[in-house]
Amino acid sequence: MERPVYKKNDRLEVAITDMGMDGEGIGKVDGFTVFVKDALIGDIVSVKLMKVKKNYAYGKLQEIIRPAASRVEPLCFCASSCGGCQIQSMAYDAQLLFKEQKVKNDLRRIGEFGEDTLGRVFLPIIGMDEPKRYRNKAQYPIGSDREGNLIAGFYAGRTHSIIPNTDCLLGADCNGKILKCILEFAGRYHIPAYDEETRKGLLRHVLIRQGFSTGEVMICLVINGNTIPNAEELTKSLCTLALPTDHPESCFTEWKITSISVSPNTANTNVIMGHTFRVLYGNSYITDKIGDVSFEISPLSFFQVNPIQTEKLYSKALAYAGLTGEETVWDLYCGIGTISLFLAKKAKKVYGVEIVPQAIENAKRNAEINGIGNAEFMVGKAEEVLPEVYREGNTEKIHPDVIVVDPPRKGCDEQCLQTIVSMKPQRVVYVSCDPATLARDLKYLCANGYDLCHVQPVDMFPHTVHVESVCLLVNQNAKAKQHVNVGIDAEEYYRIKNS
Ligand code: SAH
Repeated sequence: MERPVYKKNDRLEVAITDMGMDGEGIGKVDGFTVFVKDALIGDIVSVKLMKVKKNYAYGKLQEIIRPAASRVEPLCFCASSCGGCQIQSMAYDAQLLFKEQKVKNDLRRIGEFGEDTLGRVFLPIIGMDEPKRYRNKAQYPIGSDREGNLIAGFYAGRTHSIIPNTDCLLGADCNGKILKCILEFAGRYHIPAYDEETRKGLLRHVLIRQGFSTGEVMICLVINGNTIPNAEELTKSLCTLALPTDHPESCFTEWKITSISVSPNTANTNVIMGHTFRVLYGNSYITDKIGDVSFEISPLSFFQVNPIQTEKLYSKALAYAGLTGEETVWDLYCGIGTISLFLAKKAKKVYGVEIVPQAIENAKRNAEINGIGNAEFMVGKAEEVLPEVYREGNTEKIHPDVIVVDPPRKGCDEQCLQTIVSMKPQRVVYVSCDPATLARDLKYLCANGYDLCHVQPVDMFPHTVHVESVCLLVNQNAKAKQHVNVGIDAEEYYRIKNS
């Protein structure tokens, strides 16, 4: 049959049957694929074709002819224009199912795992009880509207135009009041917002971070210059704000601002923060906890943005590591040592490897404030440090019991995986933020002596398309596997496997 030839501005009715990497709806009309932003699986939509290629086109949503059963009213008024969330208009249960399917599909397609294996190892995704106000960090760009009034908000998807919104519903409930106070102050003293085109103006961004377990709040103003006029008055106004909370995870009734700083950034760049910061009020850091490990967080340091789900993820990683206190553990891609320190309390020795020197400084400091003496941190690429250590041949280091990896989206370098396999740890715990590279790397490990025991997806970022997973792999030659303490789930796995 001759395929109909579509062209720009054509209108089509499309049934959405799938969703892509960025949460865009995907439908087919006579074998011709149409991508539609803001359309959900199950929607029947009318679209106008914008960009037409031979076999596919991008369509602009015109009308939802029949909404998907999972379609709900989004939390935020600006959900479709704001670049932060992609799937707010999907009911949370459906979001979780979508993420589970995404991980499963990649394991099938890229990892070539069969239904048998998936049926045995794949665990239902761990979602949030209250999937909002989960972020402990927000970075609001500051700009001006047409009338010249200062605004704070978020960039519209893929652009730098600011959608005014001082209360993102993923962020903490004190952000709105803090921003309002800063905008009022700046208005009073005619302090202009930074303009990316002219590179003039002072206020670039406001960073707000919270310690969810401590109630501590940090504010850092990123400025195109060195100082803020009348800064004392600003800190006074901020410190007199009453910031009551009904935050879902709070064990306190009021937030307290304990750190206010400025970070000069005069560069013409998309990087938000400057290289340094100067304290205007209080401390240079706030403190938060994951489990019983404390972390000092400065305006410049990395910290997991959803501490509630992070604790659930790391608890799984800890269970999968099956520690008794006698083990040597490597934590590759360790960042500021969050996983390393979480595991160190239950292991004999933990070695952390991370490419960013400043993160390793943070990791060492975090070990110190927690009185953890059995964690050692190294700066370098995992794929270089691990083979070097292996060549050196130090028996304890090269025969770890457990190796944990938590790589960035591109996954592990093959050199790194090769060395892991050569070191023959009894268990490998793989924490992943990208199911596609996870599937690729699991395939490698399973072809080289490891059994996949668990795949546990965790929803760290509700309303976005991102999904994390933590997986357990066990060495096929591990002695008396059924006696290895690999956590309750793994014991269950072996019971089924051996029955
Ligand atoms: N496990 C940490 C951070 C994981 S994010 C936590 O939970 O907080 C991934 C980390 O890998 C980042 O800190 C990044 O800087 C680091 N990284 C990226 N490429 C690397 C490489 N080739 N070798 C070692 N670390 C790397």
